[in-house]
Amino acid sequence: MAGALPADGVPGEQVLDEIRALRAADAPTHGGRLFAYVYDPAVAGLDELAHAAHGLAAHVNGLDPTAFPSLLAMENALVGAAAGLLGGGPARAAASGAPDAASGARDAASGARDAASGAPDVVGSVTSGGTESLILAVKAARDARPEVTVPRMVVPTSAHAAFAKAAHYLGVRVDFVPVSADTLRPDPAAVAAAIGPDTVLVVCSAPSYAHGVIDPVEGIAAVAADAGVRCHVDACFGGWSLPWLRRLGRSVPAFDFTVPGVTSISVDLHKYAYTPKGVSVLLHRDPSLRRPQYYAYADWPGYTMINPGVLSTRSGGPIAAAYAVLRHLGEAGYLALAQRTQDAVGVLADAVRGTDGVRLLVEPESTVVCFTGDGADAGDGAQVDVFVLADELAAKGWHTQPQMSYGDIPASIHLSVAAAVAGEAHLFAEALVDAVDAAKAHGPVVLPPDLVTMLGSLPSGSLTPDMVASLAGQLGLGGAAASGGAGGPLPERMAMINTVLDLAPPVLREQLLVEFLSLLQRPTY
Ligand SMILES: *Cc1c(COP(=O)(O)O)cnc(C)c1O
Repeated sequence: MAGALPADGVPGEQVLDEIRALRAADAPTHGGRLFAYVYDPAVAGLDELAHAAHGLAAHVNGLDPTAFPSLLAMENALVGAAAGLLGGGPARAAASGAPDAASGARDAASGARDAASGAPDVVGSVTSGGTESLILAVKAARDARPEVTVPRMVVPTSAHAAFAKAAHYLGVRVDFVPVSADTLRPDPAAVAAAIGPDTVLVVCSAPSYAHGVIDPVEGIAAVAADAGVRCHVDACFGGWSLPWLRRLGRSVPAFDFTVPGVTSISVDLHKYAYTPKGVSVLLHRDPSLRRPQYYAYADWPGYTMINPGVLSTRSGGPIAAAYAVLRHLGEAGYLALAQRTQDAVGVLADAVRGTDGVRLLVEPESTVVCFTGDGADAGDGAQVDVFVLADELAAKGWHTQPQMSYGDIPASIHLSVAAAVAGEAHLFAEALVDAVDAAKAHGPVVLPPDLVTMLGSLPSGSLTPDMVASLAGQLGLGGAAASGGAGGPLPERMAMINTVLDLAPPVLREQLLVEFLSLLQRPTY
């Protein structure tokens, strides 16, 4: 890897070639065989459009919308589009259930909303991603209740890890509500029981990232409203896919502002709106709910800082790119992409159903297919280790996301399905059968006994950096990178490492992976 700052500058074309060469080692962002991290619509010309729009605004600064009204206009249009899709658009659209704002238009009729009916007056902010949207939802809830000295939030264990991160950053305590291994969703009664006088926020998912399961939003929002507590629906994953699936005729339970008690919703545009990375929207039911989200500071000699989000200076690039993608695809485009995605989900789920040795962990409710090993169903009695299976699929070019076991929920393989998968899905069944056969032949991972002993002897929670580093070393984590060797930072086969991580208590897993990342993140000169 060349240093970033050579003595003499390098011609532009050469630099681009260098970046292309680096990119060759990446997971394939196009092609429909990568089931996490990227959301590819496979629409010809869309990348070029998004990149051109990104370039038009990359140097525009969202710090001050009065200096750059273009950004304010595009942000308001994005928020309007998201609100329209999620039950918060102008009254006539909300009444018909039809999204209105893909055009970005908010006409005078929106003022005629019947306040007495409790119709929402939705406002929102564009953020850098789902995590920032969730941090801000938690911040708004916390700061709306300044009298609570130790604020708490009620979070199903299936909710995204970003809530734990938000709580950690913001000094909010988390009261977790378990999800049952059968339904993978929380019980509203358990949520109600977890709400106390210091609860400032209740959250639920539509759907959960790990399993694609839609929480009982109506029940949870109702118990939150009864207690006078805000209820955030994390629709980062599903906010831009479930509404289209519903319009295609799929039955999707109510999860948006049509549900009384839902006070805020997050939706990532850089997922199923297929925009380049760096755009999510946080919506609030009305402006007063949003107010404590802002941070303002005037008590210094510089400009008065007023930030709706975590960042201050922020690029207009992702916002312009998102605006271009939404405008270009329009409702018809998103409906067609949702149809392709739904078809792909069906084909992938059928492939799992039709393969001995694996089973769906849960029937797909959205755009996630999640499956696990099923030794009992394997006619030959051979067991399928999902971590070995993930390696076998990867060897055949199918890049899935292994998930560790959690409580009584078994380890699984996660597929986030995007429209581009539709072109490849028909090839998955054969690959899965072959990979399952290979995984059976390989057998489950057996860890070296001394490694098991070492893991068992580690005190959870009080590991020294030395102990963690030695374990990471034994596993070959970061070995290639640390020694400057060729190839990626991970071994080709991950099953052994995944098995160790799965066995390790979460706190040890966290420390191991922090150490690993820290080994990777070293400057090059
Ligand atoms: C992706 C996701 C997040 C986090 O979003 P980032 O954009 O990765 O920060 C939060 N919640 C859900 C349900 C998600 O799918």
